[in-house]
Amino acid sequence: MLSAISDAVSVIKKSKSMIALTGAGISVESGIPDFRSAGGLWDKYDPAIYASIHSFRNMPERVWEMIFELIDITERAKPNSAHLALANLEEMGLLKAVITQNIDNLHQEAGSKNVIEYHGNAKHLVCLTCGAQYSPLDFDLEHKEIPHCEACGKVLKPSVVFFGEMIPPDALYNSQRYAEEADVVLVVGTSAVVYPAASIPGVVKSHGGIVIEFNLERTELTGSITDIFIQGKAGQTLPQVVNLLKE
Ligand code: NAD
Repeated sequence: MLSAISDAVSVIKKSKSMIALTGAGISVESGIPDFRSAGGLWDKYDPAIYASIHSFRNMPERVWEMIFELIDITERAKPNSAHLALANLEEMGLLKAVITQNIDNLHQEAGSKNVIEYHGNAKHLVCLTCGAQYSPLDFDLEHKEIPHCEACGKVLKPSVVFFGEMIPPDALYNSQRYAEEADVVLVVGTSAVVYPAASIPGVVKSHGGIVIEFNLERTELTGSITDIFIQGKAGQTLPQVVNLLKE
């Protein structure tokens, strides 16, 4: 692993337009379970049912059982050293953008400025009828009171992309633009199976860019398009890379 880390450092030093693609794994060390974490939220609530727009429209009260827990987990989570390392790389002028599949706002809380969110953000609530926006903190969610729009009375939904909803067009457009120009992509804590985000590393690779992957385990990308695989907890490996870059 040490040689993979020093290889990554050499590549990053020479890069001019590096981006990062992050997934649920980067937030596991902040206490937010990924889809694989045993005993996590997604063991209790099948995302195919509870994170579907069809379910939300037909039985919002049932879906809110999951949303109360999701918002509670994300409100309590704090950025970890992997989020901070990416914010550091941006501050050092080495990272142009973070493209994230996460909905937890932790990149922004760590200090990253240019964050492209593929799946929205759980720290905003929206009315699907009139478009009014609210913060979860505007409501008494602790006592499990389902929030309703003050303007039209409809049940509010977190501003996250549920299965069956469209990825925000500006996120698609901007991430594609960054990927087409990137010479390096850091792929952190994603199983890289949820499209279209999973196509970003391939776009970078297709014009000669380098794919550096940080994960606990091998993924679909490892052994196919990944150039450097850094195995381990991102909260440990990413800061090691940043520290070496600072030397
Ligand atoms: P995933 O759950 O499919 O995969 C997570 C990946 O992270 C796995 O490959 C796992 O080996 C790796 N991982 C786990 N802990 C790690 C660590 N400490 N360091 C490095 N790697 C680690 O997640 P995904 O690829 O992002 O796709 C799932 C979808 O779930 C996304 O679309 C996302 O919107 C949603 N989701 C988001 C959150 C969040 O916002 N934090 C949490 C759960 C799910």
